[in-house]
Amino acid sequence: MIIAIIGAGFTGLTLAYRLSQKGHQITLIESENKAGGLAVGFSKKVWKWTLEKHYHHWFTNDYSILNLAKEIGHKVVTVRPKTSTFIKGEIYQIDSPFALLIFSKLSIIDRLRTGIILFSLKISPFLKLYEKVTSEKFIRFFMGEKSWNVLWKPLFTKKFGVDYKKILLSWFWARIKKRTPSLCYPAGGFQKFADRIVNKLKQKKVIIYYNELFQKFKKKSGKFVLFTNKRQLIVDKIINTIPLKETGIKMIGAINLVLELKEPFLKDNTYWLNINDANSPFLAVVEHTNFMDKRNYNNRHVVYVGNYLDKSSNLYSKNIEEILDIYLPYLNKINPDFKKNVIVNKYLFKAPFAQPIVSNGYSKKIPPFVSEIAGVYNANIQQVYPWDRGTNYAVEIGNKVAKLI
Ligand SMILES: Cc1cc2nc3c(=O)[nH]c(=O)nc-3n(C[C@H](O)[C@H](O)[C@H](O)COP(=O)(O)OP(=O)(O)OC[C@H]3O[C@@H](n4cnc5c(N)ncnc54)[C@H](O)[C@@H]3O)c2cc1C
Repeated sequence: MIIAIIGAGFTGLTLAYRLSQKGHQITLIESENKAGGLAVGFSKKVWKWTLEKHYHHWFTNDYSILNLAKEIGHKVVTVRPKTSTFIKGEIYQIDSPFALLIFSKLSIIDRLRTGIILFSLKISPFLKLYEKVTSEKFIRFFMGEKSWNVLWKPLFTKKFGVDYKKILLSWFWARIKKRTPSLCYPAGGFQKFADRIVNKLKQKKVIIYYNELFQKFKKKSGKFVLFTNKRQLIVDKIINTIPLKETGIKMIGAINLVLELKEPFLKDNTYWLNINDANSPFLAVVEHTNFMDKRNYNNRHVVYVGNYLDKSSNLYSKNIEEILDIYLPYLNKINPDFKKNVIVNKYLFKAPFAQPIVSNGYSKKIPPFVSEIAGVYNANIQQVYPWDRGTNYAVEIGNKVAKLI
């Protein structure tokens, strides 16, 4: 069969890999100049590894993608990095039951309540009930007001903005259930990993058109004519991996400022720092080189200053200097010694559709894999449920839809 796949993110790459293994003739259409989608990376001549535009890692139980890595012979690095939270001017390491037990910003009763509920979610399977209640209501009731206000509310409000009260417990459950203390990372970076899949695809004679925008398709004598901005293709089947507007699923975007520094920013070796302060202009600081070796990046320290924002946010129209100036005073609250002159390079990346909002009725809005047009399939980020979206699920969905076809 001749199959066109729209989008060369990890869903499209997996589909192309699996279907080409079955002997189908595959064409991938990608609007960007390389594969990788939201996990796309960039490189510099002096770097040994590529770096993601937006911070990325895997959990040790992300089996679909870890198995794919094994299958194609790509090395994976596993590390236990430090996760901390910035609260009222202090950094607290909160990444284990013991760390929670000694967390002094909550009373011992609230710490125990929080710990017991987190443990219950961790061991619980997915329950339909989790779709009937919001995370906010559940946390306030079971972990207590203090736990909600100190630990969770700042994260929900910074991540989901005006929608923070709507997020279903199913989303929170998935986050707790899947989190592992150790994290994995593909050696060489996610781009190197995507490029390895692309090489496998080339061996299978898969055609990839980069910088090419899918526009529409028409049915014609049992086949499809697919139109891009550059050509027309005649194919038997079409698989769309880009989110569908007509589902009514709201998506939020992400902005990441990436700083290449002469010195570490988080000197206590924290990899992931949540910022639990509604007044902070960003959500998290992720020091990649407290996770992966800085020697892969010419001995520079690589730091992401990350934000999730509705696409109406005025930060999208700001340039890198303006964003740095907005962030700088708060960066100084975290590290008072931090000065602009330790920044060697900086980069700004914006992704307008980064994360679906899992609110009431989400499971009913999920588009089916098989669309109502026979021969047209959907395999995209909106269908990742109840798990929180991630490259692991891109691979899982790619595997599923390939099997279906
Ligand atoms: C800030 C951030 C942090 C993240 N952190 C992690 C993490 O730590 N771990 C993890 O596993 N995942 C993480 N993710 C999620 C992960 O990146 C995605 O879930 C995954 O990459 C989705 O893959 P996909 O192929 O389904 O979609 P996408 O990656 O969105 O791929 C879709 C592709 O379609 C292309 N496209 C769009 N429109 C067209 C068109 N009209 N014509 C042709 N091509 C088109 C796009 O350019 C893109 O390449 C993160 C995402 C973000 C934004």
